Amino acid sequence: MNKEGKRFPLSLAELSDRGSRKTPAEPAGGRARTPQTATRNAAGNHASDGGERSQRGPVTGPVLGNAGTAGVKRASPVPVFQADRQAPVVSDGIRRAMVERLAQQGIRDTKVLAAMQAVPRHLFIEPALVSQAYIDASLPIGHHQTISQPYIVARMIEVMRDNGWGGKLDRVLEIGTGCGYQAAVLSLLATEVYSIERIRPLHELAKTNLRPLRIANIRLQFGDGMLGLAQVAPFDGIILAAAGLEVPTALLEQLRIGGRLVAPVGGRHQVLQLIERKSKFDWSTATLEDCHFVPLRPGTA
Ligand code: SAH
Repeated sequence: MNKEGKRFPLSLAELSDRGSRKTPAEPAGGRARTPQTATRNAAGNHASDGGERSQRGPVTGPVLGNAGTAGVKRASPVPVFQADRQAPVVSDGIRRAMVERLAQQGIRDTKVLAAMQAVPRHLFIEPALVSQAYIDASLPIGHHQTISQPYIVARMIEVMRDNGWGGKLDRVLEIGTGCGYQAAVLSLLATEVYSIERIRPLHELAKTNLRPLRIANIRLQFGDGMLGLAQVAPFDGIILAAAGLEVPTALLEQLRIGGRLVAPVGGRHQVLQLIERKSKFDWSTATLEDCHFVPLRPGTA
């Protein structure tokens, strides 16, 4: 096991039995139409292709990580998790197809690809939708919110990691925990992950989803993420999983100099923005691509 694997004792072998409802079934051909489907992605999306391929193609084994597919050849060894007990081979194979698709969609950061390979997305999806866990779509998680599509999760983390410190991230902040999936991915790439959710039942859902994974470096916080977490700032990176008309000033202030914040910004039309803190009083902004997220809302619910 490599260093990161030791640091994050997230052993899927240790997953408690969450019932057969969580067994990933064959991916459905269709795509859910919910927010967070980046429009750039929509054009070249091979979601159902990938899923169907993975269900038909030979599944070679439960080993995570050194995905031998063309698109992810350069992936560094995954912080090794074992696949879940219920369907280790199926879930691993389908997830590998998802990662292959992410590479085709332009995700280049091998550590991000490896983390996407390692986290069992199906454990964050409600039973009725679990068959769609590995298609490239956002899916409802209740309370009018969604789990983000795999592409946008990978993309935001990749952009955040492309910093002047060679991708090193000590402390990161996520606004909008939702079901906890992105926090789990982040936990493999940062020393400490703080994640804030404003809807109490979703905060509880994330706790429930993450508990069996035994991830030691995630801190879930119930509250208004627009205020950030001043008591533990500054952060090396900040990701917003919900779109506001602008990025809250508090979050800009809580970014370390040299740190990167990635956020969807806009109303009906949204773009993914990268904000880098250049100095105490100076931030640069770049617009990356169109996207579609649920709205960032003030207060708690
Ligand atoms: N990160 C999630 C995505 C969740 S969707 C994933 O892994 O898939 C976005 C979430 O942001 C919703 O749960 C929503 O309730 C939450 N949210 C919106 N405004 C917020 C705010 N001001 N503070 C904290 N969470 C917020």
